Amino acid sequence: MRLKKGTRCTICKSKKLNNKAVVFLPHHRLALCKEHFISWFENRVEKTIKEFKMFSKNDTVLVAVSGGKDSLSLWNALVKLGYNADGLYIDLGIGEYSKDSKILSLDFSKKIGRKLHIVDLKIEIETIPVIKESVNKPACSACGSVKRYYMNKMAKELGYSVIATGHNLDDEVAVLFGNTLGWDIDYLKRQYPVLEEEEGFIKKVKPLCKITEKESALYAVFNNIEYIEYECPFSEGASSIRYKEIWSKLEEQSPGSKLRFYTGFLKKMYPLLNKENSKKDDLKKCIICGEPSFHEICSVCKLKQKIQKVKV
Ligand code: SF4
Ligand code: ZN
Ligand code: ZN
Repeated sequence: MRLKKGTRCTICKSKKLNNKAVVFLPHHRLALCKEHFISWFENRVEKTIKEFKMFSKNDTVLVAVSGGKDSLSLWNALVKLGYNADGLYIDLGIGEYSKDSKILSLDFSKKIGRKLHIVDLKIEIETIPVIKESVNKPACSACGSVKRYYMNKMAKELGYSVIATGHNLDDEVAVLFGNTLGWDIDYLKRQYPVLEEEEGFIKKVKPLCKITEKESALYAVFNNIEYIEYECPFSEGASSIRYKEIWSKLEEQSPGSKLRFYTGFLKKMYPLLNKENSKKDDLKKCIICGEPSFHEICSVCKLKQKIQKVKV
């Protein structure tokens, strides 16, 4: 996003105003001042919500809040756009990282005057570091299942109609790239910014899917949103980070690559993968907790059983 000195904001210029641009978005060919970047960001989120029929002003939205730039920017934009959006923070018990991100999330909820629900994993099951040790699994895979489980369970219990997560374009491209490298058809079939409600599962949406990581960080900074600036210690070495680095280089050389790759998949490949007879996996109810599951016992109840065994 290099900006030549003295460049004027594209929108201000069209209104015969003289404001200098502070951001350059090469793939949109836009140079914008702070005010117009904020409105551009919010319009883009609104357009994405409408394009994919994510939710309306009548819905109650539960935003999965991590304390990071994406989830807080998303929450801020939704509230400013007039949506009925509260937050859900899952305390993963990952040392300083969880402590800091919880404080920032709570402060932000007070600032915007919206409710923040909190789930404490230590009480519900165990902290991520303990789960990791007990089940001998990579932290992120256990963490992913546990977060999905409690997000869905809490949204149902609290009566929200849709769950919104802060996944941005860089996240989606990295996952799509990984799934394409491995030709993981089952994952590719479900990689869409909307997962409709199905038995026991609340509708899940990603309104930032066309917003880059840099754009969401800028939006947070321009709105004085304080977010956690360091990564979770378990993210080190994750393949998604390597993929993001590769894509940053591609984007640098050919602006718009990420957006083309992602929207091309949604328009051309996703419909093919989900065409006719695509067999849907059988959804059952977990025989222990009653939550939806593809197996007799859901992944979180299995984790609980393993942790119990280790403790005995
Ligand atoms: Fe969970 Fe892994 Fe993300 Fe840390 S990096 S919050 S362990 S998924
Ligand atoms: Zn402007
Ligand atoms: Zn279960």
